[in-house]
Amino acid sequence: EPRVFSGVQPTGNLHLGNYLGAISRFVPLQDQMPTIYCVVDLHAITVWQEPEVLTRTIREVTAAYLAAGIDPKKSIIFNQSQVKEHAELAWIFNCIARMGWLKRMTQFKDKAGKNQENASVGLFAYPNLMAADILAYRATHVPVGEDQKQHLELTRDIAQKFNNDYAERIKELGLGIPNPEPNPELPDELYLPLTEPMIAGSATRIMSLRDGTKKMSKSDPSDLSRINLTDDADAIAKKIKKAKTDPEPLPGEVKGLEERPEADNLVGIYAALADMTKQDVLNEYGGQQFSAFKPALSELAVTKLAPMNEEMKRLTQDPGTIDAVLKDGAERAAAIAEPVLHDMRRILGFVEAR
Ligand code: ATP
Ligand code: MG
Repeated sequence: EPRVFSGVQPTGNLHLGNYLGAISRFVPLQDQMPTIYCVVDLHAITVWQEPEVLTRTIREVTAAYLAAGIDPKKSIIFNQSQVKEHAELAWIFNCIARMGWLKRMTQFKDKAGKNQENASVGLFAYPNLMAADILAYRATHVPVGEDQKQHLELTRDIAQKFNNDYAERIKELGLGIPNPEPNPELPDELYLPLTEPMIAGSATRIMSLRDGTKKMSKSDPSDLSRINLTDDADAIAKKIKKAKTDPEPLPGEVKGLEERPEADNLVGIYAALADMTKQDVLNEYGGQQFSAFKPALSELAVTKLAPMNEEMKRLTQDPGTIDAVLKDGAERAAAIAEPVLHDMRRILGFVEAR
């Protein structure tokens, strides 16, 4: 049966890309199927995190989930380190995934930079933990930004290899579900689903405000590169004013945005915030200079983000309430993941001595 899983790392300042590409899209799914939204703190420590800052950021991401409209009664909200099955399944997947698969992952290359020898082993194995996050719940749908597409393909490859390697065992134990997409490369019964990425809309890849070829990121050292969800109206206006652009006015047609990454990005942000198409935006602003378009974009961004900003502020002043949400979520998450790991241990042939 369908089930959604997604996560956000507590690695710093949540930004407009996280909101438009991921968090805002989590909300309507709550009314369509069971939804699990995780604060992936085990992922965060693949690069150094100051402990006090990590604690605060875990609560901040939780506050953002709640402020964006995720309802802890409808959805499961929890932090990853509290459900041990994630780490356990990640180990199993370390033994399923191949070195060659992980070596192709572009996020590792981007984040490790030139000195790969000095990157943590966890940063290299990151996609296996992400596959474990999803498959510990046998989740079928994962809403994410475009940058996570390659990791979701790897998640399918891992599920596929597991289903193949243990096909007989899965059948013998009666644990399989009929393969919904019959395919000669796969057995007719699967234990792990082949997860579908949900990457849709006009904001699947919001770019840095300083460099239209780099994605907006929490970990970008330049604060001017992103609009943080905690930014006030003045900060938002300043960052949009300083955003890199070219000297041409906006084109009248979407085709005219090709080869103009910064212009394309700002029009895309406007479109996503206003729930319009890029062409709609150009119908309104085509032919105008950025000096006219940028203030309109600032005003829209402030109007859309202010209520969430206020609510996040209110919630982060009350860590007790946030921790109670996380505790309840962790218990409900564990109740789903524990039996899955029990099955997995049986499939692998471990003796469950206690
Ligand atoms: P980091 O730099 O630490 O990796 P991040 O900004 O990439 O931080 P993540 O926690 O890794 O944030 O990602 C959370 C979600 O936000 C994922 O679904 C990811 O695809 C999405 N996302 C991240 N950046 C963008 C962006 N620039 N545009 C659209 N979606 C994004
Ligand atoms: Mg990221």
